[in-house]
Amino acid sequence: VFNFSAGPAAMPAPVLKQLQEELLCLPGAGASLMELSHRGQVFTDILHDAEGTIRALYGISDDYAVLFLQGGAALQFSMIPANLIRGNGKTAQYLVTGSWAKKALGEAKKEGNVEVIYDAKDSNYDHVPSPSDYKVREDAAYLYHCSNETIQGVQFGEEPACPAGVPLVCDASSDLLSRPLEINKYGILYACAQKNAGPAGVTVVIIRRDLLDHAPADLAGYMTYKNHADNDSMWNTPPTFAVWALGKVARWLADDIGGLEAMQKINEQKAKRLYDVIDSHREFYLGHAKAEYRSKMNVTFNLPSDELLGKFVKEAAANELASLKGHRSIGGIRASIYNAMPREGVEALASFMTDFASKNG
Ligand code: PLP
Repeated sequence: VFNFSAGPAAMPAPVLKQLQEELLCLPGAGASLMELSHRGQVFTDILHDAEGTIRALYGISDDYAVLFLQGGAALQFSMIPANLIRGNGKTAQYLVTGSWAKKALGEAKKEGNVEVIYDAKDSNYDHVPSPSDYKVREDAAYLYHCSNETIQGVQFGEEPACPAGVPLVCDASSDLLSRPLEINKYGILYACAQKNAGPAGVTVVIIRRDLLDHAPADLAGYMTYKNHADNDSMWNTPPTFAVWALGKVARWLADDIGGLEAMQKINEQKAKRLYDVIDSHREFYLGHAKAEYRSKMNVTFNLPSDELLGKFVKEAAANELASLKGHRSIGGIRASIYNAMPREGVEALASFMTDFASKNG
C-alpha cells in the first residue's frame, strides 16, 4: 500500500528493514539500542553520527549547533519566543502563510511582543508573499516563517527577504532534508522528524550559536537552548530510538539517494507528475495553491462535489492508495509525497487520478 499520510509519514523501506534487523540486538552492542544508556559510547556514537550526517548534507558550519529535542515542532512555537523575546521588550515579526505559522504565532503571543507583517488569510492561504508585500524592522528580534505549510500545500521557493541583522527563523517540519538550503541564511531552522526525517519523537533544531545567549535567566531548563547545546543534546535523556532511526534516514539520503540536490530533483519530478494531472483536468481537479507557490511535499486539491470527493478517497483506498483525505480544516485531498514516497507510488496515484477523471469528469 502506498501511504500518502502527512505525518507520521512513510519511512524509506531500506531503513525500516535495517531497523528491524538491528532492533533486538544492535550489532556489537549485545543488547537492543532501547536498552542502552544514552551516556554510553554506543549511543553517543549514534548521536554524533546522526548530527555529522545532517551537517554534511547541508554543509552546516561550526557557527551552528544541531540539537535533537523532544516536544515536537509545537514546543518550538514557544521555545523560540521564550528564548528570544521573553522579558526583553523586543518584537518578533511573523509571516502567516497557513495553519502552522498561525499556530506558532498564537504561542509566541504568550511569550512577548509579536507583529504580523503578512497574513494570507484573505486568499485562504493559497500563496506565500513576495518581498515587496512586507517590511521587516531592522530591530526585529527575528523574522518567523514556515517554509512549507503542510495543510494548505504552499511552499516558499526561496527564503523570505530579511535584513542582515535580523535572525531568520524557519519551521521546516514538512520539507526538512527535501532540498539543499544555505543554512547561513538562518538564525534557527527546526523540524519535527515524522515527515521526511524519521519517526515521531525527535525534533531537529539548527541554531546559530550567538542566539544561545539570549534566554532569560529564569526560563525553565528544558526550554533553554543553551542547556542542550552545552550538553550535546543530553541535558536530559534524548529520544534514543528516534535519534537512531533519524541517523539511518540521513545516511540513506546521503549514501543511497546521493544527497540533497539529488533528492530535490526526485521530489520536483514527483510533484510535477501530480500537478500535471491536475492542470490537464482543470475543471475537475481544483488545485488549492496558486501554481508558483505549490508545495513539492503536499499536493492539495479538491473535487467538484463532496460526493465525488468521497468516491475518490474510497476508490483510491481500494487501489492501495491510502491516507489521501485532506486535513479536516480545509477538506479536499492531500497527497503527501515526502522523500520516502517512491516514484512508483506517485505514478500509481497519477494513473488513478487520470482514470478517475475520465470516468467521472
Ligand atoms: N509545523 C508543521 C509545518 C507541521 O506540519 C507540523 C505537524 O504536522 C507541526 C509544526 C507540528 O508538529 P508536532 O506535532 O511534532 O508538534
